[in-house]
Amino acid sequence: MSVPIKDNSSFKLMAQFGHQKLVFCNDSTLGLQAIIAIHDTTLGPAIGGVRMLPYQSVDEAIDDVLRLSRGMTYKAAVAGVNLGGGNAAIIGDHRTQKNEALLRRFGQFVEQLSGTFIASLDIGTTPKDMEYLHMETDHVAGLPKSLGGSGDSAPFTAKGVYYGIKASLKELYGNDSLAGRTIAVQGAGNVGEHLIAMLREENAKVYVSDIVEERMAEVANKYKAVAVSNNNIYELEVDVYSPCALGGIINKDTISKMRCHIIAGSANNQLRNEQEDGQLLLDRKILYAPDYLINAGGLISCYSEIAGYGASRTAVLTENIYEATRSVLRKSIDENVPSYQAANQMAESRIADMRKIKQ
Ligand code: NAD
Repeated sequence: MSVPIKDNSSFKLMAQFGHQKLVFCNDSTLGLQAIIAIHDTTLGPAIGGVRMLPYQSVDEAIDDVLRLSRGMTYKAAVAGVNLGGGNAAIIGDHRTQKNEALLRRFGQFVEQLSGTFIASLDIGTTPKDMEYLHMETDHVAGLPKSLGGSGDSAPFTAKGVYYGIKASLKELYGNDSLAGRTIAVQGAGNVGEHLIAMLREENAKVYVSDIVEERMAEVANKYKAVAVSNNNIYELEVDVYSPCALGGIINKDTISKMRCHIIAGSANNQLRNEQEDGQLLLDRKILYAPDYLINAGGLISCYSEIAGYGASRTAVLTENIYEATRSVLRKSIDENVPSYQAANQMAESRIADMRKIKQ
């Protein structure tokens, strides 16, 4: 029988959002302080990024892992893969405090969780760091190809976004052809470049912006896209605005400027305020393909790596993003609810159904 929760805010948050486990990892000799959150393992082991950041307080790190692990549960559920949601935070500055011993010690803590948590890349960790973890545990995904891993996830993420864009076009215009469609891609990084290549291959007219001007010019020249200033990208009258740079860029200020019909991009946590901004988009009839659904290609490639599938299976699973996006947008329109809410409900419903067959 559990004792009543009085003032332990971590337990309160865990109870509120249904988290299963919060693990504190400490090694004073090495200066390791890390926290692993496991939100839900109904669908499978909890996968999640390992981020290393100089958090100002332990509470801040706890908030981060609780929020992100829950997000991973939803992402895996709606992507149709058999994984749960987790996340880990190593407290410290990755530029000055990261070293082999610290990472391998963290790998030992992951090993102690016996495969209920699978570690992958996040802010402040690199493929090389995953190699160190892998020296202590097999429960790592997103390893380099030389170690039998799936390698760079960006091409898979871009492919998922491409399907998300096509599904949104189909919903709005009745056909998903990219030829002649206008698409503004914000962020010509790893994902952005792969996406632009696919869009141009099918003769879409592409606008591109990036805060790094040389990068923007390089990608624009390579794919015959039109370079635009980042400040003007929201005001472009385009079929699709594709945020592939940073989170929080959909908010009441940017929405008021927008002249696009669809938003579909790879950036995580695009809505600054999920409820308010999701509703504003619905009111303005801008079709929003939920970020965590259409950027799941990277997660899918990790899933293939864990399950031992090859590239063709990864391609099929990524292609499923097309139908999943259509279902979410349809539900959003039919029920007049913001699309992020429709996606959340679909994820929750899959988990609830799978819970029934596990009993
Ligand atoms: P990246 O760092 O390679 O590229 C980001 C690009 O955005 C850079 O070129 C950067 O200069 C540019 N940028 C930064 N701020 C900008 C701004 N204000 N305006 C315009 N451009 C700006 O990152 P990536 O791997 O291409 O990922 C892009 C986004 O997709 C990120 O939000 C990431 O979290 C998300 N995402 C990536 C993956 C993946 O597999 N790589 C998976 C899921 C989600």
